[in-house]
Amino acid sequence: MNPRWRLTADADLRSRNTFGVAARAPWLVEISDSSALGEVLALPELRKTAPLVLGGGSNLLFAGDPEVAVLALDTHRIDILQDDGSAVIVRVDAGVQWHALVLWTLQQGLMGLENLALIPGTTGAAPIQNIGAYGTEVGEFVHAVETWDRSAGAVTRLDRASCAFAYRDSLFKRVPDRHIVTAVEFALPRQRALKLDYAGIPEELQAMQVGSPTFRDVAEAVIRIRSRKLPDPAVIGNAGSFFKNPIVPVALAEELQRQHAGLPVFRGDAADNRKISAAWMIENCGWKGYRDGDAGVAASHALVLVNHGSATGRQLLSLARRIAESVHARFGIAIEPEPKIIGAAW
Ligand SMILES: Cc1cc2nc3c(=O)[nH]c(=O)nc-3n(C[C@H](O)[C@H](O)[C@H](O)COP(=O)(O)OP(=O)(O)OC[C@H]3O[C@@H](n4cnc5c(N)ncnc54)[C@H](O)[C@@H]3O)c2cc1C
Repeated sequence: MNPRWRLTADADLRSRNTFGVAARAPWLVEISDSSALGEVLALPELRKTAPLVLGGGSNLLFAGDPEVAVLALDTHRIDILQDDGSAVIVRVDAGVQWHALVLWTLQQGLMGLENLALIPGTTGAAPIQNIGAYGTEVGEFVHAVETWDRSAGAVTRLDRASCAFAYRDSLFKRVPDRHIVTAVEFALPRQRALKLDYAGIPEELQAMQVGSPTFRDVAEAVIRIRSRKLPDPAVIGNAGSFFKNPIVPVALAEELQRQHAGLPVFRGDAADNRKISAAWMIENCGWKGYRDGDAGVAASHALVLVNHGSATGRQLLSLARRIAESVHARFGIAIEPEPKIIGAAW
């Protein structure tokens, strides 16, 4: 066996996706050293078609078996590259668990990632959809992303601007299959103004009886809120929010609010647009807590699709389509899935 990578045929992926649906890969390659990527990508099993890079499987839905090889990076280093006393540049291997990284930064006295506590998955996946929660997006703290560029057949380093981060989006989603993220560099300050203005955080800090919160208190508040609101994939299969909040022109957001009193509208990603709440629209269509066999919608959160046991990826996809159709019929808005759908088109 090669010590830097391991190849398995006909690999079971059920425990590698947080929906817990059955799927098999023709090949699974697990890599413990990203410098082996060139060698691995030259293997006959991976040479012709781009592999599916799999992190924690918490943002994808296997609606069918992947037809290509699956590649998992089992790499775990965290290195401080630079420390000028006020800010630190940290390089983190793609395979490091995201929440473990957040806890590590809290221990080191580094700020920035506290609002992103308890998001499942790996550090390598974080820049792909520019993970975000409680008013923070990871792109704000990314210094650079190191990738294996399949077009160049070499390692590249993209600075933050090149990553083109946007709401649940980045260069990596727009040019799929080109970049395999091997590590992420973060620029983390030792001091910054805390992000407390997101719904739920002030109330939670109050319940914790914290008057002057530190960044560790904010992380604790986020962990408490998330543990209450989001179903734990270890208990019930899910991939977090299944739909993105649609971004629409300001005039349309205002019109929708006039027609549908109570529809929450948030800041968009530009002055002339707004984000509208997909959860509210889905709940308004009556889906919250709905169940069809083992495929359902969480009772605690209308955006979260759940696998009550033995739902297939196809059943979950079919439920997601029905939800999107009903939202479209009622609000005239097309909602789109956040997880990557494998083995079927949306
Ligand atoms: C309970 C729950 C709560 C969640 N809450 C949030 C939230 O608050 N905010 C949020 O943004 N997301 C959230 N998510 C979604 C998910 O956790 C994140 O998107 C996470 O970054 C996915 O990481 P992963 O390692 O599981 O990626 P995977 O699901 O394995 O992969 C996701 C995508 O990234 C690609 N990818 C993964 N690793 C790499 C790599 N190294 N190089 C290139 N491509 C790669 C995959 O091919 C796939 O397209 C939640 C999920 C769950 C289950």
